[in-house]
Amino acid sequence: MTDTAIKPATISHWINGTSTPGTSGRSAKVYNPATGQVQALVDLASVEEINAAVEQASTAAKAWRLVPLSKRAEIMFRFRALLDAGRDDLARILTREHGKVHGDALGEIARGIENVDFACGIPNLLKGGYSEGASTGVDVYSIQQPLGVVAGITPFNFPAMVPLWMIANALACGNAFILKPSEKDPSASLFMADLLKQAGVPDGVFTVIHGDKVAVDAILEHPDITAVSFVGSTPIARYIYQKGTEHGKRVQALGGAKNHMLVLPDADVNMAADAAVSAAYGSAGERCMSISVVLAVGEVADELVQAIASRLPALKVGPGSDPQNEMGPLISREHRDKVAGYIASAEADGATVVVDGRKQSFEGDGFFLGVSLLDHVKEDMDAYRDEIFGPVLCVVRVPSYEEGLRLINDNEYGNGTAIFTRDGGAARQFQFECQVGMVGVNVPIPVPVAYYSFGGWKASLFGDTHMYGPDGIKFYTRSKVITSRWPDPSSSKIDLGFPQNR
Ligand code: NAD
Repeated sequence: MTDTAIKPATISHWINGTSTPGTSGRSAKVYNPATGQVQALVDLASVEEINAAVEQASTAAKAWRLVPLSKRAEIMFRFRALLDAGRDDLARILTREHGKVHGDALGEIARGIENVDFACGIPNLLKGGYSEGASTGVDVYSIQQPLGVVAGITPFNFPAMVPLWMIANALACGNAFILKPSEKDPSASLFMADLLKQAGVPDGVFTVIHGDKVAVDAILEHPDITAVSFVGSTPIARYIYQKGTEHGKRVQALGGAKNHMLVLPDADVNMAADAAVSAAYGSAGERCMSISVVLAVGEVADELVQAIASRLPALKVGPGSDPQNEMGPLISREHRDKVAGYIASAEADGATVVVDGRKQSFEGDGFFLGVSLLDHVKEDMDAYRDEIFGPVLCVVRVPSYEEGLRLINDNEYGNGTAIFTRDGGAARQFQFECQVGMVGVNVPIPVPVAYYSFGGWKASLFGDTHMYGPDGIKFYTRSKVITSRWPDPSSSKIDLGFPQNR
């Protein structure tokens, strides 16, 4: 079947609380990765459409910041209940456009909902400080105010969770939020837009604009957008940070990753193998917290490689809509072929292909690739250096803890890492020494819970604040400190000296 055999649906923007067809005349194809067919066309916004949406959002933001905290919390509670009731429907949307299996989609939604849970506590989160009597008759207090119109630009791999990292806190803090989701799987954002409206979010406070670089650049240049949260690949994150800050915006831009799992000789090998398989191949390796390198220290290597390899034949790869399957397709044909290219180049460079996903055959035109395990991978190979973002696990054999740590700290990325050991002292040393933002101890994907914040180091994050949790509240608000004295004629006098506490 060709791309045009089925008439694709149209996916429109969400502006001022309603579905709004695009007017740019440009659109992008949205595929079902499990079939390889085009199932929809998504409108791509023009600069004029972004400008119009920002104008609506600016008006809405002025009224939204006046809505009492208790009411904003109530809306978040309602949004949470609606999301909870809609989990299955949303998961089906994720499977249809992203390809991930239903169970994995439900996991993504659960982790997204955690952020709404957190935002339900907004009255408490926005409490300021108060110092009575900082000086005679003088009180000092701090308040946190919303920024106005803020925007989020999100990647294809978590079409529900990553937007929820941003939406919940940004709205609860009293901002209007403009979401520019990935054009590859745009429908989840519209599903959530509808739920936000049902929950009571006023029209214009939440906007979805679909688009490509044209829309992103218009967001970055628009003077009325005060802050931009971005999650995606490192080259684009760097670009967003540079351009956004040049235009005077507050920016947090999370980038790519190359996460290493360090397995010490004393580790529980079965536990480490289970963890490596789950963390390398879950969501077809298209997770920024996937484990893509296992550093096997010393004599553990042979047993560990064998333990991982022995688990792979049982993994079921196929359409995410079939509950039997544990791993779905990749996002696109081009990406699938690029990932397969890393297996070929590693093999040509001398790595051992222990399990070759290219050999698994699949029915139809879906973007499938089986799981691969590469052993004896070396530091100078592309498969080691690049973020593969696919179901390929590289094993690098290292002689010592120190050499494993060196590889982790020399890597350009610093998103996540994990150590597997029974030695508490070694784990503690590792958490102290590694230059990585999120660290697991016998936990392979240490994505922080929503009341901490998420963020990597080095080329995995540009900006000062991490995403969601306490950093999220800080990012979406501006603090103000008020020093006040009430009229008291007895203490009123002219004093040209610098104010001091008396
Ligand atoms: P991407 O960088 O290609 O796209 C992300 C967003 O940027 C999309 O909305 C896209 O439309 C936009 N974009 C793409 N090219 C652009 C350009 N030239 N100019 C302006 N905007 C552009 O990323 P992706 O392929 O959608 O997602 C996968 C990447 O995201 C991986 O590198 C992964 O590690 C990373 N990621 C990181 C995290 C994290 O928390 N650090 C989380 C999820 C994904």
